[in-house]
Amino acid sequence: MLSASIDQLRSAIRDVPDFPKPGILFKDITPVLADARLMQLAIDGMIEPFSGQKIDKVVGIDARGFIFGSMIAQKLGAGFVPVRKKGKLPWRTRGLDYSLEYGSNSIEMHLDALAPDETVLLADDLLATGGTAGAALELISQSGARLLGSTFFIELAFLDGRQRLAGGAPVHSLITF
Ligand code: AMP
Repeated sequence: MLSASIDQLRSAIRDVPDFPKPGILFKDITPVLADARLMQLAIDGMIEPFSGQKIDKVVGIDARGFIFGSMIAQKLGAGFVPVRKKGKLPWRTRGLDYSLEYGSNSIEMHLDALAPDETVLLADDLLATGGTAGAALELISQSGARLLGSTFFIELAFLDGRQRLAGGAPVHSLITF
């Protein structure tokens, strides 16, 4: 992707200090979502390294991963699978508890969301410590489906989250801070 496009996207991301708690610099992507042209650039850039591969399902993580993931799925002609916070999915699920910097969290995916012969791309808005995406990758792995890679709009590289996504499949991020 052109560096001018990357710069436009980067400057549209709004920094919000001390949200949701003191010490966190929150990357607010709503200005990107609100601009059709920027959103198109973002989706194209997130897909780029995976173009030409057959992707059956895009897995998106609650909640901003639903926005990016479903737009990517639509563009690729793939289905969309939500990974949700515990207790939100209505049918039978497989779930996983994972640790965060402070405390822990739980995510779930429907048992029939992925079949073992399907190829999968994971999508989320932001890779921070990698705890959330790592847990989603574990759920994908338990389903038996084949992971093609992971794609993020933003990566906070100083948190080294990429390290927690080890396992061989490529990890792509469009904007790095
Ligand atoms: P992590 O599990 O630490 O990689 O956190 C990833 C999830 O938390 C992503 O789904 C993000 O939406 C959210 N997140 C973490 N840190 C930030 C941040 N600084 N700005 C915006 N969202 C964040």
